[in-house]
Amino acid sequence: MCAALPTYDDVVAAASRLAGHAWRTPVLRSPAMDAWVGAELFFKCENLQRTGAFKFRGAFNALARFDAGQRRRGAVAFSGGNHAQGIALAGQVLGIPVVVVMPRDAAASKVEATRACGAQVVLYDRQVDDREAITRRLAEERGMTLIPPYDHADVIAGQGTVTRELLEETGPLDALFVCQGGGGLLGGAVLVKDQLSPGCLLYGVEPQAGNHGQQSLRRGAIVHIEPPDTIADGARAQHLGALTFGLIHRGVTDIVAVPDHTLRECLRMFAQAMKLVVEPTGCLGLAAARYAGLPLPGKRVGIIISGGNVDLARYAALLSVDECLCGEATAGPASAARLQLNGISS
Ligand SMILES: *Cc1c(COP(=O)(O)O)cnc(C)c1O
Repeated sequence: MCAALPTYDDVVAAASRLAGHAWRTPVLRSPAMDAWVGAELFFKCENLQRTGAFKFRGAFNALARFDAGQRRRGAVAFSGGNHAQGIALAGQVLGIPVVVVMPRDAAASKVEATRACGAQVVLYDRQVDDREAITRRLAEERGMTLIPPYDHADVIAGQGTVTRELLEETGPLDALFVCQGGGGLLGGAVLVKDQLSPGCLLYGVEPQAGNHGQQSLRRGAIVHIEPPDTIADGARAQHLGALTFGLIHRGVTDIVAVPDHTLRECLRMFAQAMKLVVEPTGCLGLAAARYAGLPLPGKRVGIIISGGNVDLARYAALLSVDECLCGEATAGPASAARLQLNGISS
């Protein structure tokens, strides 16, 4: 079709490029979480990665492969989220200039964090401007290389190192849950699972309001959706890419979609039971393990926590029980009372 799919060997090569630059994040256990879900859980904590999300891995791997001319001219990306900070830091570490095209209404903290890593930020107006056209023009005028957030072989291979580190530490697992937006993290997981834990069931997890991956898997072709309305702001991609769809179609057991109120429950559980700050998108994996009704009892289950970047004021609002019950969680399987009991008994 177009570019070739990356392979497990590409993940291994990415791991050696990343050594000494990306943190080897911890794999944490929690008896309280095991009891809450009814399985033996292994959490890979990319919320503790540099820049607070796994995106640094893919961006760094892509930039580290630049030739001398590309290094001099630099990289350009468009992102309002974690890819912006990931590529900015990767550029800083490697001494490669980076321009990030961000929406004017992006969180001030994200724009600041991106600038703090030495990247030039170009702001655009969501209502008026075409960000892809702006990015393309920058790429042409300055000869910069465009690095997309997920549909790029080197990015996918870099993200694959998350699953590789997890499985190296745990050995084979029965099931693995991976947060999914455009599918870079999940595509990387496919490459690694096939090699290190072939019998493992692999689930992508996306927000119910933006279940384009699930629809694509059912249809056997990439489905495009309108911008989804969800608190999982790291999973607002509107479609999979050609590469990520190819991998996901080949190697994923299923894609599970979870409603936003389950993400809030999980965000609070992470804080209470594990003392971890996790952003709503990073809660997708746990939400599926807890609420999707899959037969997990007694199984060894991996969960990737993809990131922890959330403004403190928003985080406080999400933690507050009053704030989160707003009428929709009543039908959900976990009540606020149950959550508190779990905390006390842990
Ligand atoms: C980007 C991102 C995702 C989704 O990753 P994809 O590779 O686009 O599927 C999930 N969680 C967080 C925290 C992210 O930043």
